[in-house]
Amino acid sequence: MNNLYILGLSFSYIVLVSICYFSKKRLDTVENRIYSLLIPVNIIGIILDFTSVTMAFSGFHGVIFTIINKLYLIYLLSWISLFILYTIAISFSLIKYKKAVKIVKVIYFILVAILIFAPLSYSVNKSEFYTYGVGATIMYFLSTVYVIAMLTCLIINVKKIRQKKYMPIFFYIIIGSIVSFIQLTNPSILIITAMETFVTILMYFTIENPDLKLIRELNLAKEQAEKANNAKTEFLSNMSHEIRTPLNAIVGFSQSLIEDDSIPENVKEEVKDIVTASDNLLEIVNGILDISKIEANKLEIINTNYSLKTILDEVVVLTKARIGDKPIELRTNFDETIPAVLYGDHIRIKQIILNLITNSVKYTKEGFINFKVSSIKKDNVCRIIISVEDTGIGIKPEKIDKLFTKFERLGVEKNTTVEGTGLGLAITKRLVELMNGKIVVQSKYGEGSKFTVAIDQRIVSENQIEVKEDKKIENKVKDFTGKRILVVDDNQLNLKVASLVLKKYGVTIDTANSGFECIDKINDGNYYDLVLLDDMMPKMSGVETLKRLKEDINYKIPTIALTANAISGMKEKYLSDGFNDYLSKPIDKNELDRVINKFL
Ligand code: ADP
Repeated sequence: MNNLYILGLSFSYIVLVSICYFSKKRLDTVENRIYSLLIPVNIIGIILDFTSVTMAFSGFHGVIFTIINKLYLIYLLSWISLFILYTIAISFSLIKYKKAVKIVKVIYFILVAILIFAPLSYSVNKSEFYTYGVGATIMYFLSTVYVIAMLTCLIINVKKIRQKKYMPIFFYIIIGSIVSFIQLTNPSILIITAMETFVTILMYFTIENPDLKLIRELNLAKEQAEKANNAKTEFLSNMSHEIRTPLNAIVGFSQSLIEDDSIPENVKEEVKDIVTASDNLLEIVNGILDISKIEANKLEIINTNYSLKTILDEVVVLTKARIGDKPIELRTNFDETIPAVLYGDHIRIKQIILNLITNSVKYTKEGFINFKVSSIKKDNVCRIIISVEDTGIGIKPEKIDKLFTKFERLGVEKNTTVEGTGLGLAITKRLVELMNGKIVVQSKYGEGSKFTVAIDQRIVSENQIEVKEDKKIENKVKDFTGKRILVVDDNQLNLKVASLVLKKYGVTIDTANSGFECIDKINDGNYYDLVLLDDMMPKMSGVETLKRLKEDINYKIPTIALTANAISGMKEKYLSDGFNDYLSKPIDKNELDRVINKFL
């Protein structure tokens, strides 16, 4: 009677498991296909076993009883055939599995035929019931063969057997052998079905079946987050474009006022403040643009040959200007042996150094800033070690972790007068990482901080001779009276600014409001030495305008993209679109000098 209790329990568990299993969406894998057959087979097995035992003890020993017992043997055969297929499926490739299926199927049908026709004997008395005869012997024999096959699979895949999907096989081999032994010596203890049910239930937990619904929901959430992030990135870069346009006017007009000798000195001072303020604003816009590019993985490192020495000199000049009359001493210590020409992204290297040193100036009231650059050379690689140490406010130890998080400003309650966005260090860290470098910070709150950056750069030349000194030659403003420049922009204010900043070269300036007007002017036979062409114009973009102009093979006028579209990689894009050069708005004086000198 105990057998019936065990079968009853097995039945309720397997039904529960099958409800859980079949109610969830599953991956379409071989394992799942086998398992979705194994569960119903197992349930049928329990029912057959239950019926057989009940009939045996109730005295129904007719044909039906024989059929039930034969069906039960077929169940045992089916279960173990599916289980050996599961073992093969998780151990070998799909091709091998398919071959194995054919062999197992042949064995299965032959044995089914034998089981149907082979005579079956059984023994029933008051408390004992079991079957024996050819069918039972076949099942014992087949189980032994399949267990050997399972062991072989385990040995061949010994490296994989720690995976949890092998657990049911281990369990079956060990417990199955014990059960078979008990069954052989004491045939009336019927526990094979319960043991197989247990293995089937165990498989439910070991078959890799991720929650597909959850995955789909997560994917959806991820997609939405990405969409939102992209929208934000796009918004930021649009905003930066929009802000740059009026900023272009502010910078352009105020710069030309500074150069105007008829303006009284006190007004000039105020105009200088406007320039400083707009420079700061531009820096913030650039920071926002950088961070949005970083988030969209669009920030690229553009490597060229450059001179680190030149960058350091420029940084020193800028830093001195930033310090102004603050009582801060700028101490510099540059390694003499830094190679003259390195290969790397000089714009980003300069940005990293400037970010660190600007922070030092910002967060130091008095004392010194120690700006040190050293180098370690190995073969053709030079490790540049840049350190910026200050005697500023310092950083609390618990805040150091947050230092490189975007928009995170530490202790701002205390230094509300210091302007900043909390983007500088986040960008710096990302840039350093993009160059496979490292950045570390040491700081004592109230005493000062030290930021150290190490970046490897390829050595191009140890000697100064090979440095291209383009800038120095070009930066002198010459007089270009008689030369004609066409400026194309849909924004009237921008046209006015461009005309104003170009005035100092003595050139004759003509303007066009759109791509169409530009094309008309050129086709009408107007002669120009240079065209400055805005890109983002309604109806016809600058790129499109240039494309149409170039349809005429005689079009030879150097054409420069003049645009507020300042995402990194834009210069390369415009050059590949056929422009001769690129100027970003607000127009940088030095860059404009360079372009004018080069093309006129
Ligand atoms: P921002 O300077 O625009 O606020 P950063 O990302 O450059 O943003 O710096 C983040 C924060 O780290 C700053 O707000 C400041 O609290 C702290 N910090 C950065 N550099 C220094 C420094 N040299 N000394 C003290 N605090 C610093």
